[in-house]
Amino acid sequence: MSILASIKLNAGLLFKQAIPVQPCLLCGVMSDAGLWCEDCERSLPYLRGPSCRHCALPLTSGEICGHCLSNPPRFDRSTALYAYTFPVNKLIQQLKYGDQLALADAFATRLALRIPTDELPDCIIPMPLHPNKLRQRGYNQTLLLARSLSKRLDIALLSDVCKRVRDTASQSSLPYKARGKNMREAFACDVSLMGRKVVLVDDVYTSGASLNALAKAAANQGANHIETWVVARTIRHG
Ligand SMILES: [Zn+2]
Ligand SMILES: [Zn+2]
Repeated sequence: MSILASIKLNAGLLFKQAIPVQPCLLCGVMSDAGLWCEDCERSLPYLRGPSCRHCALPLTSGEICGHCLSNPPRFDRSTALYAYTFPVNKLIQQLKYGDQLALADAFATRLALRIPTDELPDCIIPMPLHPNKLRQRGYNQTLLLARSLSKRLDIALLSDVCKRVRDTASQSSLPYKARGKNMREAFACDVSLMGRKVVLVDDVYTSGASLNALAKAAANQGANHIETWVVARTIRHG
């Protein structure tokens, strides 16, 4: 074995040993598998089957869902890691409101494995929070996700080029049909994205209204291919 290979192997062993034994966030069993144990990992609602190429909605036939056929979104493609059901919904709430910031890296590690490395976007934009919400929460969980993805996949992180300029009502407080209207003109991007392949990162895809509004702002700055990567997606529209 070369010295370099041996160093790498030892570093790998050290790293493995460095993962502390801790209670699984989901079932409480002590494990050294990270934030949740291997049994819970196997039971998570991964989306692995065929899905709409625009919005990642699980499909039983065809390539594009009925909703995207009648209302094509401004992004070309979406990747979603999980269905937004229990217990992923609880984990995402802990990331957003429970200060469990390490969840961002755990999700990003798994999401990065889903992305084909031969057609990577060239920049990554997290869903911006309005400054008022950022002050309340203290952090933007989508920036943490995007930062981890940018490191893992070696894609430039554009953390400040798109801003939320309207402090909109929370999307989850509104009926599905009102969500597109609520997001109108909510974002502004102040840097040219001319000819760039952009990926927008968010935690949850529900109606797609926020991502679509952000995609419009990116398209207005010249982005020519836009995709979205999300941790979880509701398994029907709205
Ligand atoms: Zn567990
Ligand atoms: Zn669709």
